[in-house]
This record gives sequence, structure tokens and C-alpha cells, in this order.
Amino acid sequence: MISTYQKVAVIGAGTMGNGIAHVFAMNGYNVNLIDVSQAALDRAVATIGKNLDRQVKKGSLSEEQKSATLANITCITDLATGVNDRDLVVEAATENVDLKIKIFKSMDEHAPEHAILSTNTSSISITMLGAQTKRSSKVIGMHFMNPVPIMKLVEIITGYDTSEEVKNDIVALSQDLQKEPVAVHDYPGFVANRILMPMINEAIYTLYEGVAGVEEIDSVMKLGMGHPMGPLRLADFIGLDVCLAILNVLHEGFGNPKYAPCPLLKKMVAAGHLGDKTGKGFYTK
Ligand code: NAD
Repeated sequence: MISTYQKVAVIGAGTMGNGIAHVFAMNGYNVNLIDVSQAALDRAVATIGKNLDRQVKKGSLSEEQKSATLANITCITDLATGVNDRDLVVEAATENVDLKIKIFKSMDEHAPEHAILSTNTSSISITMLGAQTKRSSKVIGMHFMNPVPIMKLVEIITGYDTSEEVKNDIVALSQDLQKEPVAVHDYPGFVANRILMPMINEAIYTLYEGVAGVEEIDSVMKLGMGHPMGPLRLADFIGLDVCLAILNVLHEGFGNPKYAPCPLLKKMVAAGHLGDKTGKGFYTK
């Protein structure tokens, strides 16, 4: 554990928040897991417990380490209370610009002056979120990948004002979490989604234009390109609403029609077919 950042808060206890809390707590950090929904917090603790059990079964974690990890996590529903003594906050709430602006203003008001404010956003500008605070040099992106306990990459995104010192600290801290940080600059979609989302969108266009079916498109990319998961299967896993939101950010951010989301993706999201989370997407679960 890096002693300067012993106390961490994770805001949002959904898919990503529970994984981020798991990884920090397992590496000895004291974590306040914050969500407006008590039900989300209960689900997150249950998921973390299940994932830790899997690690114990595999032999990569002892029962004692599992108990210590769970003991490092405190669930809280009030943001002000949850961040007021923290060294680092990782915001992982719903991907919505207005919501993140509100949360950043509130974190800035209630977290100690020395605290770094980071976000797990997939696509929202780090520079813009930093500008909502009085500490833009201490605002940075920590983009973990799903599922967080398994995926090695953390995309570290520096905003226009982010200091070199803060970047270096967050790189070192990510390594301490046994992750592999890669530092990039703040432009729409950063690196991961700027490349991934146009590929997923093109796969959806390929389906929309009747070039091939769902299974065929995924098979070509798995067997021919060595991808572990086809792009349409991956889109279901990520969430079609999330894919659409990121494509809209790319489209608006660059003003380039090549990022325009496929009409089929828009229609599926409007129909509420969001992929794995609703059981209906390109595949039915
Ligand atoms: P999610 O919908 O699973 O969880 C979001 C959580 O935020 C919910 O539990 C919700 O109750 C909570 N929340 C909403 N408003 C809140 C508030 N004001 N205060 C505290 N909690 C609040 O979403 P997710 O998939 O975990 O995504 C979270 C973030 O991570 C987003 O910014 C997303 O873009 C990013 N991300 C997601 C993935 C992915 O594959 N799902 C991958 C990388 C990054």
C-alpha cells in the first residue's frame, strides 16, 4: 500500500465500482464504498464476496486475506461523509455528464484539500470535470477495465491542468494495485474507446446492412483476428446504452460523421434491448 493514499473512496457501487473497491481493499487500502442506493451497496458486497470466494477456491487468496479484504470496505450512502477524510476518490457512478458534474462539485467541496479526485469515466472529458473544481491539477482519469479484478490495464488520463506529480503518483498507485497503467491525454474516447467503439459500430453496420449475421461477424473476428470475444458479444457485455453514449461523445467531440452511431444500435437502445444487463441484445441470455 502507498502510505500517502491509504484512505480511498469509491463513488458508485455498480459493475465497475464493486470491482474497483475489491481491488483496492485486497491490496490493503481502506475503502469507503459510496452509492445513493443501499440496494446497490448490498449487491456490491455480495458480488465482492462471491468473487473473493472464487479466488480462494483457485488458491490465489487465503481465507484470512478474504476476511481482511471485506473488513477494509465500509458502505456509505452519504457522499459528504464518505469522502471527508479520504486521500483519493475514484468516481465510478453512472455515465452521465450532468451527474458527474454534480458529483465532482460535491467531492471538491467535501474531500480534504490534499485529496486527488479521479474518475473511471469511459468518455467524459477529464479537463471539463477538473474545471468544475478548485483543484484541477489534482483531477485525473483512472479508467479501469471490466471485470476489474481480472483485467490488467488502467488507462490513466491526464486533463489539461493535471500535474505531472499527480500523474506519477496515480501511475505508481496503479502498479501497487498489481495493474498495468498506461498514461494518455484527454481527447474524446481517450485511446481505449476511440479505437474499440468504431470497431463495434462497424460490426453493427455490417449486421444492419445484411453483410452477415451476428454469429458470423463474431466468428470472423474471433477466428481471424484472434479476439477473445466477437465485437457484438462484447457490445452486449459492455451494455448497448453505454456503447451508444460513448459513440455520441466521439461524434460530438470530433464533429466527424465517421463516428455516427449505427441506426440499429439507436433502435435497440430505444427498445430497451441493452445487452447482458437486460438479457436481450445481439444475443439472448
Ligand atoms: P452501473 O450502472 O453498473 O453503476 C453505477 C452506479 O452509480 C449505480 O449503482 C448507481 O446507483 C450509482 N450512482 C448513481 N448516481 C450516484 C450518485 N449521485 N452518488 C453515488 N452513486 C451513484 O455503471 P458501471 O457500468 O459500473 O459504470 C460506472 C462508470 O464506469 C461509468 O462512468 C462508465 O462509463 C465507466 N466504465 C464502465 C465500464 C463497463 O464495462 N461497464 C468499463 C469502464 C468504465
